[in-house]
Formats: sequence, structure tokens, C-alpha cells
Amino acid sequence: MTRAPRSAKTTPTAKTTPSAKIVRLTGPRVPAPADRGTAIYAALRRAIIEQALKPGAKLPEDAIGANFGVSRTIVRTALRQLAAEGLVEIRRNRGASVARPSWEEAGDIFAIRLALERLVVERLAGRLGPDQVARLKEHAAREDGARGVNEPQSVRLATEFHVLLAEMTGSEVLARYVGEVVWRCGLTLTLYSRPHSSECGVNEHREIIAALEAGDAARAVAVMDAHLSGVVARALIAPSPKTTDLSDILRRYTEE
Ligand SMILES: [Zn+2]
Repeated sequence: MTRAPRSAKTTPTAKTTPSAKIVRLTGPRVPAPADRGTAIYAALRRAIIEQALKPGAKLPEDAIGANFGVSRTIVRTALRQLAAEGLVEIRRNRGASVARPSWEEAGDIFAIRLALERLVVERLAGRLGPDQVARLKEHAAREDGARGVNEPQSVRLATEFHVLLAEMTGSEVLARYVGEVVWRCGLTLTLYSRPHSSECGVNEHREIIAALEAGDAARAVAVMDAHLSGVVARALIAPSPKTTDLSDILRRYTEE
């Protein structure tokens, strides 16, 4: 495997010639990062979600740029995007690191997620086309396939099921908020959960699909409520009142 030249501090002309394809999304947007920026953003986000990068881990712009063969500016854009989603913290003079949501914040994030996902299933009940139902079922089958085989992939697919549902509402705003909050929930679970306990039950996902297909909004909401509360109940461990030193508790869950 050839490595990209470590040229983060030189001008990256070779990598970003004007002829390089830049995908432009339609509509007015904040300055769109080029393909490579998007790729770095996606790679970092995935590493955080799959817990290869743990909460608190440093994310130095120069090292990341050298790894991907891009300028620090491109890396900075990707880090800012992740910061906007709450996955990364950027502190002046201390650079970027993977976010460490507080216990209180964790509670808020889950409450917001619950409210948003209720809205999603209310909107979708009875309104899914056959193609959408098929796609959801196919996704659940992929979750089954990854279960017990590839743990990080299994967690990611389970989370993506919720993102897929939100996208099917056709509401860009709802999809964006659900997207942000579910990934933040994932990060929170890496800090405060028992190992291997934070996954969604695939059968519960199938129950949600069935309720939506049947057009039963009340049932879909009830199933989603039970599902998300179940994930939290199975996974989250509140810092014990006997142990006052939060960093001691956190250390137990961040060292491996
Ligand atoms: Zn789920």
C-alpha cells in the first residue's frame, strides 16, 4: 500500500488540482467542503462512532492532515463540522478532541432523541411506499448479518436505521436533527454504558417497521418509545452516588 506524501505543510496543489471533481450540492449552502474534506469528515465521524477514537482523544490538525495528505485548512473544516454536531470539542489553544458529554447532557440528548423520533414515526405511519418498506426490511437484515460478527459495524448499522427512518419523512430539518442527535447518543453510550449493551434490538426495529406498514401511528410511537427507553435502560449506567470522583468512573469506561 503506498502512502500519501507527508506534505501537510506544503501547498497541496498535487492533490487538489482544479480538474479534481467537486460535487456541488444544489441549493444555497454554507461553503461546501471539497470531496476530500467530506471524506475526512466521514472517516473521522465513523472512527468516533465505531469507538476507534475514544471520548477525549486528541485530534491534531497537522497529524490528521499528514495522514490524509491534505492541508490543515481542510482538516479544520471537517473538525468544525463535527463540532457543530457535538462529536468534537474545539478549545482555543488546546485544539480539537473527541467530545465528552457530561452525564447531565447525556440525559438531555436522550430526551430530545425520544421526542424527535416520536415525531418521525407519527409522520411515517401508513405513508411508506412498498420500496421504502422493502428498504427498511433489507436494512434490518443487514443488521442481523453484522450482529455478533462485527461489533462496531453492528452498532453503526443499528444507528443508521434511525437515520434512514428520519430521512424517509422527506423533511430535511427533521433528518438533520435526528442525524445529529443519534450520533451524539452513540458517543454518550461509549462513555456511560456497559460494554456491548448499547445496541438496538433488531426485532424491535422489525416491530417498528410492522407498525408503520400497518399505518398504526399510536402503536408505532409506543414501540419506538419502548425501544429507545430499552436501549437506555440496558446500556446506561449512572455514575454511582457512592463514588464522588467522576473522572474515576469515566476512566473505567475509557481505558479499553
Ligand atoms: Zn434502534
